Amino acid sequence: MKLTIIFATGNKDKIREIRRIITDPEVEVISMKEAGVAADPDETGTTFEENALIKAQAVADLVVQTPALIPTEPGRRVAVMSDDSGLEIDALGGQPGIYSARYMGHETSYTLKMNHIMDIMRDVAQQDRTARFTAAVAAVLLPAAQEPGKTFVTRGTMEGSIGYSICGEGGFGYDPFFYLPEFGVTSAQLTEDQKNAVSHRGKAVRAMMKLLQQELEK
Ligand code: IMP
Repeated sequence: MKLTIIFATGNKDKIREIRRIITDPEVEVISMKEAGVAADPDETGTTFEENALIKAQAVADLVVQTPALIPTEPGRRVAVMSDDSGLEIDALGGQPGIYSARYMGHETSYTLKMNHIMDIMRDVAQQDRTARFTAAVAAVLLPAAQEPGKTFVTRGTMEGSIGYSICGEGGFGYDPFFYLPEFGVTSAQLTEDQKNAVSHRGKAVRAMMKLLQQELEK
């Protein structure tokens, strides 16, 4: 599938994960920085899906206004993609959810955020510590010669539970205290490829690539 994806994030960890998840050699993934666009719209949505769409649409609007950014190779389409993700903890009524990055303030370290959550959950029994990472992926497929633009959204989840300590050097964010029962380790102790095979973002991105493939083969 001849597709250029401009991924709407400033987060280098996310771009690295996305590049490992998307393996089609004809699909090129470029960051906003590499594309020369900058947008950081307020995440005013109330769901992961709404926030993913807000980001993808804001960047798509900028790209459309800058024709030089659009590849000219015949048959190659361009999509602006973004994700919005977070950690939902059942014992906390689904918090921090869409506020995961903003929880206790953007500048607060994840060590502090995780220690605080483990502290307020100290009396929550093992079986009630269930949680999941959720990711919504949005893609705005830009219009081409005879083809209209179109918007797509997918969702993926990874189930686990909140551990009692911080463990592992891999991943990012809340990975070091997110325990995966089927692996017996935290998601920070998986290799990148192990995590991508089961992660919320891996599932949502692969579902999105299928939708885009079906659309481009029409
Ligand atoms: P976003 O960049 O607005 O989507 O924010 C995502 C938030 O959820 C950040 O706080 C991340 O740390 C957290 N998060 C999302 N996915 C993961 C993951 O795979 N591992 C750890 N934390 C994650």
